[in-house]
Amino acid sequence: MTYDFKEIEENWQKIWEEKKLSKAEFAKDKKKFYCLEMFPYPSGKIHMGHVRNYSIGDVIVRFKKMNGYNVLHPMGWDALGLPAENAAIKNKTHPETWTLDNIAVMKQQIKRMGFLYDWDREVATCLPEYYKWNQLIFIKMFEKGLAYKKKSEVNWCPSCKTVLANEQVHDGHCWRCSAFVEFKELSQWFLKITQYADELVSAHKELEKWPPKVLLMQKNWIGKSKGAGVKFKVEGDLDIDIFTTRLDTIFGATFFALSVKHPLVKQLIKDHPQKKEIEAFIKEVEIESKASRELTEKKGFFTGKYAVNPYNNEKIPIWLANFVLIEYGTGAIMSVPAHDERDFEFAKKYDIPIRRVIAADKSKNYPEEVTEVFAGEGYLVNSGEYSGLSSAEATQKMGELLKEKGSGELKTIYRLRDWGVSRQRYWGTPIPMIYCDNCGVVPEAIENLPVQLPKDVNLTPESGSPLGTSESFYKTTCPKCSGPARRETDTMDTFFDSSWYFFRYSGPTDTEPFDREEARLWMPPDLYIGGIEHAIMHLIYARFFTKVFRDFGWIDISEPFPHLLTQGMFTLVGSTMSKSKGNVVEPDDLIAEYGADTTRLFILFAAPREKGLEWNEKGVEGAHRFLQRTWNFFFSNQEIIEQKTPVSTIAVKDEDSKKLYIKLNQTIKKVSEDIGLRFHLNTAIAALMEFFNDLSSAHEKIKAKNPGLIAYSFEVLLKLLAPFTPHFCNELWQKSGNTSFLENEQWPSYDSRYVVGQTVNMMIQVNGKIRDKIVVNMDEEESAVKEMSFQSEKIKHYTDGKQVVKTIFIKNKMLSIVVK
Ligand SMILES: [Zn+2]
Ligand SMILES: [Zn+2]
Repeated sequence: MTYDFKEIEENWQKIWEEKKLSKAEFAKDKKKFYCLEMFPYPSGKIHMGHVRNYSIGDVIVRFKKMNGYNVLHPMGWDALGLPAENAAIKNKTHPETWTLDNIAVMKQQIKRMGFLYDWDREVATCLPEYYKWNQLIFIKMFEKGLAYKKKSEVNWCPSCKTVLANEQVHDGHCWRCSAFVEFKELSQWFLKITQYADELVSAHKELEKWPPKVLLMQKNWIGKSKGAGVKFKVEGDLDIDIFTTRLDTIFGATFFALSVKHPLVKQLIKDHPQKKEIEAFIKEVEIESKASRELTEKKGFFTGKYAVNPYNNEKIPIWLANFVLIEYGTGAIMSVPAHDERDFEFAKKYDIPIRRVIAADKSKNYPEEVTEVFAGEGYLVNSGEYSGLSSAEATQKMGELLKEKGSGELKTIYRLRDWGVSRQRYWGTPIPMIYCDNCGVVPEAIENLPVQLPKDVNLTPESGSPLGTSESFYKTTCPKCSGPARRETDTMDTFFDSSWYFFRYSGPTDTEPFDREEARLWMPPDLYIGGIEHAIMHLIYARFFTKVFRDFGWIDISEPFPHLLTQGMFTLVGSTMSKSKGNVVEPDDLIAEYGADTTRLFILFAAPREKGLEWNEKGVEGAHRFLQRTWNFFFSNQEIIEQKTPVSTIAVKDEDSKKLYIKLNQTIKKVSEDIGLRFHLNTAIAALMEFFNDLSSAHEKIKAKNPGLIAYSFEVLLKLLAPFTPHFCNELWQKSGNTSFLENEQWPSYDSRYVVGQTVNMMIQVNGKIRDKIVVNMDEEESAVKEMSFQSEKIKHYTDGKQVVKTIFIKNKMLSIVVK
């Protein structure tokens, strides 16, 4: 019999689809398992990274099914966004055509891998039946004050020709195309994610099953800092607000540093004696900040104005400085050069006084001149009535005074900014808002949703959004007064779509974003599998949406993903790989040459899940050979395997049988825990390969005396291997005379007496003579060794009918029995 994987795999895929093996049941009395993988962007073909991600999910899904779970395993498409629009412009087609064609191709590729997806719940975010609900959610948010419009300076990607959220700017560059990001003043829609900033950090304690690295990235992004907001009076009746995390150092503030974009700059410099020079300085800093965010040299210009320290009325000179950015904090800082490196450098350069106000050591006398920055906390000096207090004590006391004087308060601030969601591109969800001269900004009436994307648009307008070129789109009537009105022509950031798609999977319906009763059954997903590159954007937005849905009263949960599993990247750096050799790894090629089962096995075996995976031709051949050998083993032992023997009747008395039986039980335990507890799929496969080797080398010795054990061992092997190579295993399962699917079979359980660690040979003596050797687990207890010894036929021969006087037990070596 040859292993014809193509025929086998296509046949099983057809059967599973016909029998709806992947269909999730709405069953309240069964334990549920919702396995979610990050849905793909329909770029045109699946790549090895997708295959790896979905293979991990599929193994867990099949494992859970065999463990009696009602499983939900959906798939869909994150189908809106720029690549489709750019491809459509380039190929003179419509983004929708391009996208839907790609989906069709990729869906076939995914099906060819044999993944069990419930396609009845498929989601494509580009379809009006999906984005209609984006619009409803947006309107709901608008009504609750969570979506609002404001004019602000936004990140603008000149290459993508659209606005970017702060999360989408990586070190000053566009996250998608790496172009240098510019600033632009625009009126934009924002979602008030900052309202949830505190919860987004504090709820981290519930996310024990997240990789610590992801939590840390989120924490840094949200950037919670405790400190004080202080209002400094400036002559001419102005106030400058600052935020400091070190209120205790305020007596050491010897200058103020302002961003050149601070709103008060104009007023501060309006009668500056060197007006031309200072204006030139501002221009220079603005140009520099556009060219590079890495400052080479700190530069400043004195405004001639002073701010007044609320604690001692000291006049503090106000400088404009290139190192202060308007995007962070208030765009103004109080500078304490004795206790901050950056301020120290600036003060040295411009000859500004440096005053020590914190002493590390309370009893030490410090010289007046500060030669080294001390940035830590300590005890206050040179700080009036606060001198002598610790930093913490002083901060509390100083906070009280701020409140009394009305010049500020102790508070917590966040680095997180509201999420700008307006995009000036076509292929996104139209923002369902209407501008009416009489009524102002009005949401579209719910019964008029969806606001559909028009087809008569110019995708590359000279300026503004493509939707602004479709008169039939933007000309509308006001839902409030029925007067003529104009639609919003911006579309939503596509991260909006992916912030809640997993809710849609859990309860698809025509009447609301998701069926709440069914969602209550399934949500949250028990496992979320995806790449670590989504740590900031997607995973923060999805957590935000979940909290918003909770506050809408739609659901009871607060966190969408209690268990996040991230995997490493798939890299193509194997030495035998090159484009010129024509052997670049595409999933399609691998499947054609080796089949889906081998591909799955190779990908999951080649590296630990969380590590990067490199292409390795030897690895894929090794995986294929393993299946081939298992296949051959079946056909040379088919008669034995077909005779099923109940496990309870299998004798494991002889040493060869016992050894194999122990290995078998150890393998069941290891594979069950590797998949179900640790998600270490590569070590589970290694254990199965090892077990198969033991089985092949032992079976000649065992099969005559103990054929039931061979049959049982092979049956267990098929069941344990089924989640990894389901077509292969189901084929051999049915060829052994079964009619069921392995996925509906019970996952094997192990006999705990035969699993503990490694085994050793024990000598069994009776009255001083060695009468038997038995295989036991390493470090086995005396009582268990005794029990096994007295079952041995050889020992029975010397002990039956006699009285045991005593036993001497030497761990891992010998049991000595004295009888009379
Ligand atoms: Zn870009
Ligand atoms: Zn109106």
